Amino acid sequence: MPISPDQKMELLVSLCKRRGFVYPDSDIYGGFANAFDYGPYGVELKNNIRDAWWKMFVHGREDVVGVDTPIIQHPKIWEASGHVAGFSDPLVEDKKTHKRYRLDHLLEVAGADITGFTFEQMAEKMRELQLKSPDGNPLSEPKQFNLMFKTGVGVSEDTASIAYLRPETAAGMFTTWRDIRDTMRKKLPFGIAQVGRAFRNEITPGNFIFRTREFEQMEIEYFVKPEDAPRAFEMWLAEQKAWVQDVLKLDPSRVVYREIPEADRAFYSSRSVDTEYLYPFGQKELYGLANRGAHDLSRHQEFSGEKLEWFDQETGERFLPHVVEPTWGLSRTVLAVLCEHLDIDEAEAVGGGEEPRMVLRLPPRLAPVKAAVLPLQKKDGLADIGRELVASLRRAGLVVEYDESGSIGKRYRRQDEIGTPWCFTVDYQTKEDGTVTVRDRDNMTQERVKKEEVAGWIAAKLVA
Ligand code: ATP
Repeated sequence: MPISPDQKMELLVSLCKRRGFVYPDSDIYGGFANAFDYGPYGVELKNNIRDAWWKMFVHGREDVVGVDTPIIQHPKIWEASGHVAGFSDPLVEDKKTHKRYRLDHLLEVAGADITGFTFEQMAEKMRELQLKSPDGNPLSEPKQFNLMFKTGVGVSEDTASIAYLRPETAAGMFTTWRDIRDTMRKKLPFGIAQVGRAFRNEITPGNFIFRTREFEQMEIEYFVKPEDAPRAFEMWLAEQKAWVQDVLKLDPSRVVYREIPEADRAFYSSRSVDTEYLYPFGQKELYGLANRGAHDLSRHQEFSGEKLEWFDQETGERFLPHVVEPTWGLSRTVLAVLCEHLDIDEAEAVGGGEEPRMVLRLPPRLAPVKAAVLPLQKKDGLADIGRELVASLRRAGLVVEYDESGSIGKRYRRQDEIGTPWCFTVDYQTKEDGTVTVRDRDNMTQERVKKEEVAGWIAAKLVA
């Protein structure tokens, strides 16, 4: 009998805590719901994903440049983008427990097809179905709940000082558009990329790090001539697929590219495709891709009073470029990668008792630690050789660990759980011929490599 999805999530969450990937946040204060700390291995994994992304989409391309803009920007930006007026979810409250829910989620769970429904239509459907809370209690009337976190800037607390924590990184690419256009000597089509934090006061966060109030996004706004937008859309869809398959190595059977029906798209979007991943708790959005037309630039042009047009030197035309926006959730990627590559010994898992054997079969370039050096014994000079080897690997720029305590089996097992692809063991033969044993995490094969060649051996595997 295979383990259930709930069990899988429990084992994953427990491994994440036990092995320093993700901890519940503010734990010494009794915890803070739906906030998490990335531990030493979690932050390495997240950074490796971010770096692979930047390498593929910024450094790897002639037509994309990067920016880094503030979390708190001019509040007018969010009026222009429509977030002040319309970035809200329908909220209902359990009248007894006062727990809050998203009405659209409750309606979906109740089996209602609410494709394209407005807020009023959802409210109507709720009354028609006499919808109750998950605890079986009556619900309040729904209201629109704005997801933006408000804050104040400056010393006085009047309305002029209201500002917002950005709910998405995209705005920074629109506010830098004019300066990039004027300084970077680019030709259309080209994109502006950014990675950073975004904040949403989610009504029902949950499912571990899937939906949190604070998360990271990796986004590109790709500016094109209007007639070029359909081609650019296809190009970015192919790029998103390549990222999922070649870098994250997610099994294609667990990934769905869902064409969003017109009724569910924003009014300005002429096409949207979501990348959805089959997490243990269900098939959910991982990434988005939208053809946003000239909507954003025209709104920012209107609200800022600045000319944001492109001047085509060849044809002498002035026009507002259209924008294709591929967006990747970084925190959701961390979760998908962990779910995908955590290999649990199911026979041990259903046997109960202690935690089953688990191996995190991460793609090597994403693994937090690339290699571990393990002397078979501390004595007889083996530890010294091991320490020297680890120091030389660090000098070569590799993230490595040295571990000399406990049985070799336990040390291998610990490295398996954090996803280290290769373990190098220093043994008595090392003293004779200068070779160490390398054990491969995935196929458990062992071979001998000269100490001096270990750094090159790892580097070759990482690019392979
Ligand atoms: P959802 O429908 O799940 O709320 P969304 O459609 O509102 O997501 P977008 O506005 O398209 O999300 O945001 C772009 C990406 O940012 C998403 O594809 C997702 O990867 C990520 N993201 C959005 N909200 C959160 C969140 N609360 N926690 C973690 N990641 C998020």
